[in-house]
Amino acid sequence: MKCPFCQSPNTKVVDSRSGKIEFEVRRRRECPDCSERFTTYERIERTPVVIIKKDSRREEYDREKVVRGIQKACEKRAIGLDRIDQIVDGIERELREIPQREVSSSVVGEKIIHALKQVDDVAYVRFASVYREFADVTDFIQELKSMLPHDFSHSDPKTTPKENS
Ligand SMILES: [Zn+2]
Repeated sequence: MKCPFCQSPNTKVVDSRSGKIEFEVRRRRECPDCSERFTTYERIERTPVVIIKKDSRREEYDREKVVRGIQKACEKRAIGLDRIDQIVDGIERELREIPQREVSSSVVGEKIIHALKQVDDVAYVRFASVYREFADVTDFIQELKSMLPHDFSHSDPKTTPKENS
């Protein structure tokens, strides 16, 4: 690991401990050349999960899609990105515990709904209502994007949605 401050290749680990997230190790490193310290995180590479869509097509699980969908549902709510990351970590942990490597997209969708229910009522209702209509975790996230400003915006009517329909 190169020093991010002086690019020296001689950094050493001064402390190592489990991170906040399961399966994560946090390492405190020090550069003997410039004495700067920095932190690195080591994580287990995620086992890819294959998602079976409603029409039986398969696609690889995409964390970013899930994060974006949840972010959209949590728009203007007091839910930070860290919290969203935690929610997705929890969902992924559950997905890894399923013995089959392939899961139906509806399983993922229901897990997201279940997780949001514990976190925020508005985000939960937004997500659940759009999701149930489409019943496909990948398609509905696309739809969520265009639907939200029209159907769920409780904000000032003067702020017009940017998206075109
Ligand atoms: Zn350095």
